[in-house]
Amino acid sequence: MIQKREFSNIHKQIVLSNQKHKCKKCGIKFNVAHLPNFGYTDGNVANNTMSNLKVLCLECTEKGKKS
Ligand SMILES: [Zn+2]
Repeated sequence: MIQKREFSNIHKQIVLSNQKHKCKKCGIKFNVAHLPNFGYTDGNVANNTMSNLKVLCLECTEKGKKS
């Protein structure tokens, strides 16, 4: 069983800043109504390196699960 590793808060802040606090997919600006959702770019939940961290809005996260 794969052990899930959470991203560190500092990595989350850096990636959020790099993405200018916008969804990587649709470009919506994060705010209280559109909270950022942190995901694993390669789908490997054990890989919590910063390069594997992507920030999407909840809508894009849900769409990604369906397709
Ligand atoms: Zn989005």
